[in-house]
Amino acid sequence: MSDFSHILGVKFNNVTYEEAIDILLSFLRENKCHCVFTPNPEIVMEARKDLEFMRILNDAELVVPDGIGVVIASRFSKEKLKERVAGFDLVQGLFDRIKDKDYSVYFWGGAPRVAMEAKFNMEKKYSGLKIIGVNDGYFDANKEKLIIDDIKNKKPDVLLVGLGAPKQEKLIARYKNQLPVKVCIGVGGSFDVMSGRVKRAPKIFMRFGLEWLYRLLCQPSRFFRMLKLPMFLLAVLKKKFFG
Ligand code: UDP
Repeated sequence: MSDFSHILGVKFNNVTYEEAIDILLSFLRENKCHCVFTPNPEIVMEARKDLEFMRILNDAELVVPDGIGVVIASRFSKEKLKERVAGFDLVQGLFDRIKDKDYSVYFWGGAPRVAMEAKFNMEKKYSGLKIIGVNDGYFDANKEKLIIDDIKNKKPDVLLVGLGAPKQEKLIARYKNQLPVKVCIGVGGSFDVMSGRVKRAPKIFMRFGLEWLYRLLCQPSRFFRMLKLPMFLLAVLKKKFFG
């Protein structure tokens, strides 16, 4: 089993959910900033059009597949991915492992009040978890500077950025070398789920790899975004058969 799987130019770490959590814990013991991204097929397609974004993804210390489409695509190559590792689950697992330890977390992203509601719920669910800063994801250049200064002052160990892709990955890459943070994770819409405003798919949808269908049924406005999914699978097949 190889350590990486390359899907349409994006390099994924071939790890299970448990292995990914252990890697995050090892990052927390090192004195440098590690970037963690969780691309789905839509994000891979975006990276094919945007080479700066592709470079940012491929420079990250940990990249896991948040989408069954990526795992299926890997079956058409020699580097089959072990399993889907959803960003939301990864963060929940991390919270569970650090809640009794001396690590702190900072939330940045989502509509006004969402990150605050997410903090309230997560501190209740993971008693002992230390969320030391919260900011919503709608800001101008001045506010961005204030938020960066706040992060520099508070020095969280983990920074979660939920601004959607590729905005969150580009922002993390831009500030990575200035921030006194050990792990930065792009978490997409995870604060919406942590806040309780958005529900995750029922287990039956997850079991059959249909979380994308549940999200489409709940948010039909995602339809045009999701057209990228069949295009992604076509691109994978084209690469396999025509190189
Ligand atoms: N968002 C934000 N600032 C922006 C644009 C988006 O904070 O300028 C947030 C938005 O409120 C949502 C998240 O980014 O919470 C994007 O969610 P989406 O479901 O698109 O991400 P996914 O989970 O699909 O990556």
